[in-house]
Amino acid sequence: MATTLRRIDQLRDSIAPFLAFFTGPFARLNANPEIANFAVGNPQDFPMPDYVEALRAQLEPRRRDWFAYKDSEPKSQVVVARGLSERTGMTWDPADVAMTNGGFAALAVAMRALVEPGDEVIFLSPPWFFYEFMILAADGVPIRRNLAPPAFEPDLEAIAAAITPRTRALIFNSPHNPSGRVYPLETLRALAATLTDASERIGHPIYLISDEAYNRILFDGREFHSPAEVYAHTVVAYSYGKQLLAPGMRIGYLTVPPTMPDREAFREAVFVAQFATGYAFPNALLQHAIEDLEVLSIDISAMERRRDGLVGALREIGYETTMPEGTFYIMARAPIADDVAFCDLLGKHRVLVLPGTIVEVPGWFRISLTATDEMVERGIPGFAAAYAEAVQGG
Ligand code: PMP
Repeated sequence: MATTLRRIDQLRDSIAPFLAFFTGPFARLNANPEIANFAVGNPQDFPMPDYVEALRAQLEPRRRDWFAYKDSEPKSQVVVARGLSERTGMTWDPADVAMTNGGFAALAVAMRALVEPGDEVIFLSPPWFFYEFMILAADGVPIRRNLAPPAFEPDLEAIAAAITPRTRALIFNSPHNPSGRVYPLETLRALAATLTDASERIGHPIYLISDEAYNRILFDGREFHSPAEVYAHTVVAYSYGKQLLAPGMRIGYLTVPPTMPDREAFREAVFVAQFATGYAFPNALLQHAIEDLEVLSIDISAMERRRDGLVGALREIGYETTMPEGTFYIMARAPIADDVAFCDLLGKHRVLVLPGTIVEVPGWFRISLTATDEMVERGIPGFAAAYAEAVQGG
C-alpha cells in the first residue's frame, strides 16, 4: 500500500541522491571524531565568541513583546538596506527588505511569490541541491541548462534558446556552489542583456533570482557584484549562515533593488508568500542581534590559507582541482570514473567529502573548507592513500 502522496514522492525523487548520501555515508561518518570532515558547509569548530556574545547581549527581554511574533523588524530592514547600499552604491529601500529564516526560505518565498502553476524556471547545473526541488514545490517546471566547464561560464545562447512564453524566472548563483566561481560584472551584464531581449520577445519580464548566500566569502581580494546592479528585475536571496558559519541559526533576507519596477506590488506578494511558506521570518532573538551580526564574519583569510594549503597538497598528490574564487568549496576530480565509489574509499581512509554526482558533477567530489586546519592536516594522508589505492586498483 502506498504510504505517501504522489506529490511528496515526486519531490523526494528530485533530491534522491542527496537523501541517499545524507542517510548513508554522511549519517555513518559525520559524528565520528576521527573523521576529517569536508562533507558540507557546516562548522567543524566552535562558534565565534563574538557571535555568541551578540546573541547573549539580546537575550534578556527589554520589553514585553521581546519574544512576540516578529515579521520583518524595521531595524533589521534598515540594517540590511544600509549594508547593501554601502556595498553596491545604490540606495536600497528598507521597505523592500523581507527578513527570512535563511537563504533557503528566501528562495522558497521567491518561488512562491513569482511562479504560477506550469511556469518555467531555468536553473543552471551544477546547481545547489534544492533548486529543482523548490521549483517543483512551487508547482513550477524546472528547466536545467549547463554551466560550461571547465570555467563554469553561463552559456547565454543555450539560456536564450531555453526561454519560452512560460518562462518566469532564472536562478543564478554567484559566488557559485560548487565551482567557487565569482562572476565578474561583464558576465552579469551579458546575462542581463540576454534576459532583457528575451523578456521583450515573450512580452513579460523574466525575473533573475540571485542566490547570493556566499557573497561575503571571497578570496584573493575579489569584489562581489550582484546582478541587481545591472538587471532591474533581480530578486536577491541572502543567508547569514555562511558569513557567520552558523547555518542552524536561521536568518537571511529577500530583497529587490531600487531600480525594480512595481516594487510595492512585489513587496506585498512576498509578504503573503512568507505566510504561505509557514511564517518564513527569522526568530526574534536573531533580529534583535542583526546590527552586530551584519558586520561580523568568519575569518576569510584563514579560509583562504586553508584553500591554498589543501589545493597545493591535493595537486601534489596528483588530483586535478579547481581554485575557488569564493564560497566554501573546492572541487577535485576522482582518479576513477565512479565518484561515489571513490568517496566510499576516502571514507575508509577517514575522509568525508561530497560525491560530485549529488551536485550534478559526476566524476568529481566536493571538499568544504569549513573543516578545521587540524582536519586538513589529518586528512591529507587519507587523500593520498585513497588516490594511490584507486590508481593501483584501476
Ligand atoms: N544557496 C546556496 C548556493 C547554498 O549553498 C545554501 C546553503 N548550503 C543556501 C542557498 C541556503 O542557505 P541557508 O541554509 O543558510 O538558508
